[in-house]
Amino acid sequence: GKRSGRNVVVPFDPDMLGDERHRRFVERELRAALLLDELELYYQPVFDADRKVRSHEALVRWRHRVRGIISPAQFIAIAEESDLIDKVGEWVVRRACIDLPQLGTPVAVNVSPAQLRHADFAPRFAALLAQSNTDPASIIVEITETVPLQARGIELANVDALRALGVRIAIDDFGAGHASLQYLRSFSFDVIKIDRTYVSNLGDSRIDAIIVSAICDIARSLPVDVVAEGIETEEQFALLREAGCTRFQGFLLGRPRPLDELHVASAA
Ligand code: C2E
Ligand code: MG
Ligand code: MG
Ligand code: MG
Repeated sequence: GKRSGRNVVVPFDPDMLGDERHRRFVERELRAALLLDELELYYQPVFDADRKVRSHEALVRWRHRVRGIISPAQFIAIAEESDLIDKVGEWVVRRACIDLPQLGTPVAVNVSPAQLRHADFAPRFAALLAQSNTDPASIIVEITETVPLQARGIELANVDALRALGVRIAIDDFGAGHASLQYLRSFSFDVIKIDRTYVSNLGDSRIDAIIVSAICDIARSLPVDVVAEGIETEEQFALLREAGCTRFQGFLLGRPRPLDELHVASAA
């Protein structure tokens, strides 16, 4: 940070997320980042059992002018404490809509539960799609399950409004939070994404294998698609196919990459 000689004095360090000074620093830097256009989207492919790419997930990156690439783990939680998450979220949707034709598949965007607390979230989302003539059916909204949604509250009204528009809804990190089953009964959705922690021990942990099978059974009965995230080995991929997963995502099959480094159909 010395090189810049300006206000970049505190390192971006996830261990400092609880630190008030660090939080305010990241907030200020992130506001500048939006003006300086320092955010980027990486895309990670999602495959079917035959290794055919079916969709891409947009994952935000911050290319800081001094610090280089900063992962969302280091700034999303801080953005969620203010209106910054709405600004980041809007930027992500805009960018994903621009990239969509080149991706050649539906695209998933991550939406923070904090964004869903605004009564006008769904109409604003609809307006963003309309501005770029984007078909809502080609958009998937991933909502993380780790934060409880208020039953019958504004959050659920927004989810319903998005679905009415034709946007698909995925429950992200399913099983990681405290209210997985509550989520299933409280709102309608189209995709379940099994949290990576269940996938990583699949070969060794009998209980994780049982849980994954049970989630797949629920998904099949509804029926909704079930994505396994964080697949790193062929063994995990095979076990997940046996368990009844329908979609697959992970470093084994494809890492998140900038659009121009993806091998998409349109590049052929
Ligand atoms: P997520 O939505 O559950 O995304 C999956 C994360 O797992 C990504 O981390 C991805 O790079 C990583 N991943 C994918 N495959 C593997 C694998 O095989 N092994 C391992 N170890 N990791 C894998 P990333 O990009 O750092 O994102 C972290 C989280 O930040 C995301 O988790 C999501 O909750 C949040 N996030 C990312 N982009 C956005 C965004 O635009 N808006 C919001 N609100 N949150 C975002
Ligand atoms: Mg996600
Ligand atoms: Mg996830
Ligand atoms: Mg996750």
